[in-house]
Amino acid sequence: MNKFILFVLILLCLSGAAVAQQSENDRAMNRPVEPFPIIGNIYYVGASDVTSYLITTPKGHILIDSGYEETVPQIKANVAKLGFKLEDVKILLLNHAHYDHCGGLAELKKLTGARLLVSPPDASVLEDGGRSDFYFGGDKPVFPAVKVDERLTDGQTIALGGTSLKVIFTPGHTKGATSWTTDVTDGGRKYKVAFVSSLTTLDYKLADNPKYPEIAADYARTFQRLEKLKPDVFLVSHGVFFDLTEKAAKLRAGAGPNPFIDPAGYRTLIAGMKKSFEDRLKKEKTPEKK
Ligand SMILES: [Zn+2]
Repeated sequence: MNKFILFVLILLCLSGAAVAQQSENDRAMNRPVEPFPIIGNIYYVGASDVTSYLITTPKGHILIDSGYEETVPQIKANVAKLGFKLEDVKILLLNHAHYDHCGGLAELKKLTGARLLVSPPDASVLEDGGRSDFYFGGDKPVFPAVKVDERLTDGQTIALGGTSLKVIFTPGHTKGATSWTTDVTDGGRKYKVAFVSSLTTLDYKLADNPKYPEIAADYARTFQRLEKLKPDVFLVSHGVFFDLTEKAAKLRAGAGPNPFIDPAGYRTLIAGMKKSFEDRLKKEKTPEKK
């Protein structure tokens, strides 16, 4: 497990260091893969590692995350392959406003005409193309800017065609990082599903960060909130956080219970991420020995 977390941290640190949209690492996370039904009315339509989820309803669909600007053609093809229409997407949601998850939202909004619903802090970042992001921001846009149609409030419910998603603000990784929970029915049984935001700390300054003074408190509260959830299925912004490739292969092989039902994997993820946050914070607060 430690090796796994280390791998994830290294992967995301590298990605964080290279703001350019398609570094080698970015390309590795953005390879086309087969779309598939995950559980209930939730479908995987993303790339090899940057995720995108389609939640279908009789009244139109919800799409979480666009991937990179360059992921959009894959999402478009994946939705069609599963027999759905991209134009039927009515609501666009976002895990957090980093270019590998929101880069394609402007294009997807154009293609679908859907309403984009985002937390207030990440909405501001989306609308200026990432310039105001506390970490990646600067003079130049990081991704195509996109207008947000509605600013979400913590705890609100997003409802469409019999599906409802509860909004849980989980800031830290970005000021407006957001998670959701929903219930699905599959094979006559009900399951609780959590869409979980990124929880890594990249190489952020966690103590006394003038650009985000409450960052450490936000992370701490986010972990507290996520520890209370007891999802059967958890789906995250990057495949490596929940063994997407391995679970998808098992699901394809067809034997046994749905591998995405993994409550223990959720607890392991949250505990591992919390520990790496706490270790980082502690290290920052400990004066270096000369
Ligand atoms: Zn991120």
